[in-house]
Amino acid sequence: MNGPLLKVENLTKHYPLGAGLLKRTIPVVRAVEDVSFSVEAGETLCIVGESGCGKSTVARLLMRLTDPTGGRVLIDGTDIAGLTKYELRAYRRRMQMVFQDPYSSLNPRLTAGQIITEPVENFERLSRKQRQAFATEFLQKVGMSPHMKDRFPSELSGGQRQRLGIARALALNPSLIIADEAVSALDVSVQAQILNLLMDLQQQMGIAFVFISHDLGVVEHIGHRVAIMYLGRIVELAPCEALFAKPIHPYTEALIAAAPVPDPTRARLEVPIEGEVPSPINPPSGCAFHPRCPIAVERCRLEVPPLVSMADGRVVACHMRAPATDASPQALAVVPPLPSVAEPQPSS
Ligand code: SF4
Repeated sequence: MNGPLLKVENLTKHYPLGAGLLKRTIPVVRAVEDVSFSVEAGETLCIVGESGCGKSTVARLLMRLTDPTGGRVLIDGTDIAGLTKYELRAYRRRMQMVFQDPYSSLNPRLTAGQIITEPVENFERLSRKQRQAFATEFLQKVGMSPHMKDRFPSELSGGQRQRLGIARALALNPSLIIADEAVSALDVSVQAQILNLLMDLQQQMGIAFVFISHDLGVVEHIGHRVAIMYLGRIVELAPCEALFAKPIHPYTEALIAAAPVPDPTRARLEVPIEGEVPSPINPPSGCAFHPRCPIAVERCRLEVPPLVSMADGRVVACHMRAPATDASPQALAVVPPLPSVAEPQPSS
């Protein structure tokens, strides 16, 4: 099959808040606005943003756990909105999810072995011997001892539970795993083990990941490409190395500047950003980032910036840093320089 494994086109999700009988307009939460991206087989696309930016809603839309207000999700070219209930089951077999809280996503009354084999038994009957072999194989795949198969989730550590969640997702041999804050509840040392496990599994099995996180350190470690979301929209999408080496959108700069830098020799950007993320019920006009943006101009308040393709393969939505070719001559004339990079301090 040619083309990307997953293609998302203009995906939009609004949640109506309800209204009194006499109200004419119903307020809506604009959780996701006009989001488009694609994921190739064996690729990791990370989606990053602050709480409430819509990244987890994107994950729910990809799994069709909720229906979009607009736009499409295509897997191997098939629009999942048109699938029957039966076809959707087969589709979900190809796309699995790993959740943030492994404890609440695992059935506490099932053993580890039963948790791994249960999704498979929704599709085919397994003999007792096959069940045992299956559980052993997938526990070993995620670096757990086969002896663990008789343990309940309450008898496992946080890291073991997340490994078990991954084993359950792998059991159906998916093409794509959507990992929603999959390591953020874990200790840093366990995070590193789980991330390395996911990368190893990707190499062995060719699985693609949509990895949702607010942690840029994690994203830099695991991502091939990164999409930055702000208030429901993608504002920058770029290859991972390019994004961290030279962020273009002012919000991306601010996120990277705010992230802790464990390497004392690495340059750090100085970018001021103030204020809170506005409400998605009543987002700012034009570019939603304009009330917090240090380089905003009048046009930013009036027009939503389109995503513009750059020469290095990234797309950016910013009137000032990535002006559309049909932008006004005034806007094109004022392209501010990227912020200066502080000289790295010599390590003592
Ligand atoms: Fe800032 Fe304007 Fe660019 Fe938005 S469009 S990020 S407000 S400069």
